[in-house]
Amino acid sequence: MPKIAVTGSASGIGAAIAARLARDGADVIGIDLRDASVIADLSTPDGRLSAIDGVREACGGALDALVACAGLGPHVTDLAAIASVNYFGAQELLVGLRRDLAATTPSAAVVISSNSTTMPGAESPLVDVCLEGDEPAVRQLATTLSGVQVYAGAKLALTQWLRRAAPTAEWAGAGIRLNAVAAGPVRTPLLEGGLSHAIYGPAIRNFPVPVGGYGDADDIAAVVAFLLGSEARYVCGSVWFVDGGTDALVRGATY
Ligand code: NAD
Repeated sequence: MPKIAVTGSASGIGAAIAARLARDGADVIGIDLRDASVIADLSTPDGRLSAIDGVREACGGALDALVACAGLGPHVTDLAAIASVNYFGAQELLVGLRRDLAATTPSAAVVISSNSTTMPGAESPLVDVCLEGDEPAVRQLATTLSGVQVYAGAKLALTQWLRRAAPTAEWAGAGIRLNAVAAGPVRTPLLEGGLSHAIYGPAIRNFPVPVGGYGDADDIAAVVAFLLGSEARYVCGSVWFVDGGTDALVRGATY
């Protein structure tokens, strides 16, 4: 039975991914603030270390896959927390569990990013500071930016980190495939929080989605299940836009 760790497993997309993988026969190790096998706060360095320890104990040092899904939306008022959870809560877990993933070959990891990374404004100064790994500086900078700049910047940094890491000896060379899913609006408590925000609500409602409507968490879970599976054995370092066509509409021929 493959052992697969999923962060953010208590709600929304992470819960759908955990349920889908369990239905497919995986032993899912959920990580969240509540209702999970590993209870940990991914917004702090200590919390992330305890998450890594908890997963390592649960998988016995050999992990088949990791899904870094936990995240906070741009409407959250604690801007530093958005940056900490959305970048460090994913990147540090991947790095911290790399040897457990390498112990099981082949293995794979997927991060849940966002199509906000390709929308105007994502190129925030936060990206480079995240990639430098200086969390106190990231948290300080986040307090001077808007929620969207912090959210999109942290997700863009995470995607850029993944693109650089995926083809290296430490990852692809060690039998670990890294890929990202850039989701569009998906019906979850996070989206509901955005929709009820005075500024982000109207902006989200006006966002053009070519196929119409919002996605369901299961739409993302299906793509994650594919990316983790053996049929995706040649897929590495890619970013899958699961957003109803918004990225294609906005960026056209640029990709
Ligand atoms: P959600 O709020 O339903 O679930 C997020 C989960 O992350 C929750 O269970 C929460 O407890 C957990 N989490 C938050 N902070 C944490 C912390 N400090 N430590 C541990 N766990 C923590 O949201 P969702 O929509 O399912 O979001 C999942 C991921 O998908 C996020 O990374 C989000 O950015 C991304 N995403 C969502 C949408 C969308 O429209 N819903 C769009 C693009 C990307």
